[in-house]
Amino acid sequence: AVPLVVAVSTSLAAKNGLLIRDRAAFERARDLNAVVFDKTGTLTEGRFGVSDIVMLEGGDEDTALHMAASVESQSQHPIAQGIVAAATGKGIAFPAPEGLQSITGAGVTARVDGQEVAIVSPGHLRRQNTPVSDPRLAALEEAGKTVVVLVLGSKPYALFALADIVRAESRDVVARLKARGVQSIMMTGDAEGVAKSVAKELGLDEYFAQVLPDQKAAKVRELRARGLKVAMVGDGVNDAPALVEADLGIAIGAGTDVAVESADVVLVRSDPRDVEAILGLSRATYSKMV
Ligand code: ADP
Ligand code: MG
Repeated sequence: AVPLVVAVSTSLAAKNGLLIRDRAAFERARDLNAVVFDKTGTLTEGRFGVSDIVMLEGGDEDTALHMAASVESQSQHPIAQGIVAAATGKGIAFPAPEGLQSITGAGVTARVDGQEVAIVSPGHLRRQNTPVSDPRLAALEEAGKTVVVLVLGSKPYALFALADIVRAESRDVVARLKARGVQSIMMTGDAEGVAKSVAKELGLDEYFAQVLPDQKAAKVRELRARGLKVAMVGDGVNDAPALVEADLGIAIGAGTDVAVESADVVLVRSDPRDVEAILGLSRATYSKMV
């Protein structure tokens, strides 16, 4: 039988938008000493707006937007939505892409107007040994902007800098976790400069940048091997294996079905502060029991 105090806590939690899917994991939550947060869509709003377009080959911005919006028009990634909105906002038309392929954690490629087009992360180009060396790239990333590269044929043609908004609630949860002796750690596929800037803004204890989707679970395992009791908070398909690997997997928001299925707890309200609420509730519930 489920002890009464636990039954009361879980239904109280549910009323407050905290769905406990695994009671044993909820009990483990009282011993947590580190929370790993995904960046985009968890600590940040996950809504990107294009703030800068840098032409690398002297072409014009409208052409760059036309090509970029076409490649991104079928992608669900928040970066894609920001680029499409920028083109639409300027009244720039774009065709449907042909032969679309997505590179997980790196970007997308397609043919547009008969040309090979790609939009990828600067890290992806570095791994391919074709890095963008323009100094404006580092400057934008150090300013906390997410930068993607538009490649036409095999030539980097333009940089798109996108700004996301750090949630005010994120700053609160980091401070509250710290007060409970729990570290806050961020994991992101985004660039080092962006991660550093967000980490500084939020007062995070540690961060990992340029983590490819298939490396996220391994990072959580590494932290646990250091002796930490780890909660992982994420919203995406990419995060599912890391949620499973953690002592407590937390899916935030509507999330994707895969993330929800892999989580021990679901935060229905998409408020990162609910991570601390779970921890507090677990400590309160299980300290009343012998
Ligand atoms: P995060 O870990 O922040 O949720 P992702 O793993 O989804 O990030 O993506 C990592 C990086 O891959 C992004 O910062 C971006 O540079 C690139 N990327 C992924 N998908 C796309 C896309 N559709 N358009 C442009 N860039 C993309
Ligand atoms: Mg994500």
